[in-house]
Amino acid sequence: MSAGPSNAAAPEEDPAGGDAAPRRAALEALARDARGCRRCPQLAAARTTVVFGRGDPDAELLLVGAAPGRAEDRQGLPLVGEPARLLDELLRDAGIDPERTYRTTVLRCRLPDNRDPLPEEVAHCAGYLARTVELVRPRVVVALGAFATKLLRGDPAPIRRVHGRDEIRTIGRRAVRLLPLYDPAAALYAEDAVAALRADVARLPALLALPAPPDPVPAVTAAVASGSSPSGDALHSAAVPEADGAPPSAAAASPVPASDQLPLFGGS
Ligand code: SF4
Repeated sequence: MSAGPSNAAAPEEDPAGGDAAPRRAALEALARDARGCRRCPQLAAARTTVVFGRGDPDAELLLVGAAPGRAEDRQGLPLVGEPARLLDELLRDAGIDPERTYRTTVLRCRLPDNRDPLPEEVAHCAGYLARTVELVRPRVVVALGAFATKLLRGDPAPIRRVHGRDEIRTIGRRAVRLLPLYDPAAALYAEDAVAALRADVARLPALLALPAPPDPVPAVTAAVASGSSPSGDALHSAAVPEADGAPPSAAAASPVPASDQLPLFGGS
């Protein structure tokens, strides 16, 4: 039985490096690890299966929902049914092949009665998302819906205020462009939300065309280079400013303070 992602708490050097085949193998190994995970006893007891992820393991676009729903739990796949069909349609309309995306969720187990997750459950599962981002290496991460957006942004700003606004965030040890979107499942029942979702999805090709944001310098390395000792705070992932000369994006002009990053993925 696994206790969870082996590298969740203290990430080590990426053994996969930049080679696609070892990264894919590491992703499959991570999925096998997750399948036996019982770190959240209530979720492990209630789930049909762990829903790890699916799609292109080399995708430049990672779609992250909140947690598997009933259908996902039964099928063992994230983002299925009508919401997935709507999202795929909007992606195609924007010129993006849905098959070239990778899909996953913040929590990999269904929440009984669709209750909110406990903080410790989110913390337990954070390593799986951080490691998934490190292995898939997307340029752009889409947070689908209010819950995923709050977790990935690390603040409670409502989705109606932040949807469609990209910003550079650090997840695990990767800097990505994060774009919050309305949840396609909720949008199915609101024409206005579908229109907003369509407009936000239409921004994705331009975001994907931007240079990849530079990964943060590991705090320990930075501290050695500067001759200082890393404090506890310094071990959090650094804010990632836009690269010189790169086109400005919605939120990149304001570097993200470390305190605004999702603490779960801060690396401390
Ligand atoms: S939610 Fe994540 S950490 Fe919790 S039991 Fe499921 S896979 Fe493990």
